[in-house]
Amino acid sequence: MPEGPSLRKFHQLVAPFVGQLVVTVGGNSKKINPNMLEMLRLQDSQVHGKNLYLNFGLNEDLGLSDSFLLPKHLQKEVKLPKEISNHKLESTSSTSGLDGQEVPASSSTIKALELGEEEKEPLNEPWWLNTSQNSGPWLCFHFGMFGSVRASEYSRATKPNKKGDWKDPLPRLVLHFAKGFLAFYNCRIYWCLGPMVKPSSDILSEEFDRRQALEALKQANPVCYTLLDQRFFAGLGNIIKNEVLYLAKIHPLSLGSCLSALNLESLLDHVVSFSAGWLQKKLEGKPQHHLIYQKEQCPAGHQVMKDSFGSPNGFQRPTWWCPHCQPKVTPEEPNEVQATKEELP
Ligand SMILES: [Zn+2]
Repeated sequence: MPEGPSLRKFHQLVAPFVGQLVVTVGGNSKKINPNMLEMLRLQDSQVHGKNLYLNFGLNEDLGLSDSFLLPKHLQKEVKLPKEISNHKLESTSSTSGLDGQEVPASSSTIKALELGEEEKEPLNEPWWLNTSQNSGPWLCFHFGMFGSVRASEYSRATKPNKKGDWKDPLPRLVLHFAKGFLAFYNCRIYWCLGPMVKPSSDILSEEFDRRQALEALKQANPVCYTLLDQRFFAGLGNIIKNEVLYLAKIHPLSLGSCLSALNLESLLDHVVSFSAGWLQKKLEGKPQHHLIYQKEQCPAGHQVMKDSFGSPNGFQRPTWWCPHCQPKVTPEEPNEVQATKEELP
């Protein structure tokens, strides 16, 4: 599924529409009622980790009362308990499991996302915050394997389906504005209280907290589990995990507690520089070539190993590593691997 750099690109596509009124809507979402977005204004957009958040507000320009503009089912305001309305940025991502591994609401959800379907759950009604707080509801988008956002263009079929038909993908949601539209594909959409991830845990945020991330990496857990922990590395997905472990010459199952401070600092440097470099390429429309992810040989020509690793509470994710370039460090044989600060190719 799209990782942090892709989400930043989606955010860039959405940004020009912020401030505009949603004129009509479309899409096949069964989880939310797209019609309730008509005549609401897209007020804000934010990206945190692997989620995109859109904030909607009333169209005050028309001089009509709030209740007139709101669809019927939205006209009754939801009074939120104080502790809920205050917690917005305090809690961890709603898609984080007990240990922060990415765990969508149900196992059927991830299956549905992989299949490009929307999970069968009851219609999700918005949290309509008290309008006096000047904050409308937020829609959260969590993208599946082939999830994407298109601005003023639809996604086209790139290959025929099993029946040989060239069927274009169907957007989950389309927001039409006075000029142009946004189409959202293969994503789970739900109403929420607002962005639920602290910028300090977002690998692409200027506020990314390296000290906190380092503390997490130091624990006696395999580093490949910790890297996917969205509480400390929001936006870091399976591609970034594989690539930065190769760049830092660290075996995926090495326990963080067995690695030197220098190795962990090097790994963190690669997380930040690789993610920023990938984002830069995305913004320039250039492809990101992988060094180890889905490869049979590493750049040095060694045979690459592949297996599925994941914490007991999270998903098992395919992992590629080179046993020569990334030797395993065991508790019995602490061995400092050579830290690198190579530039990305
Ligand atoms: Zn190698």
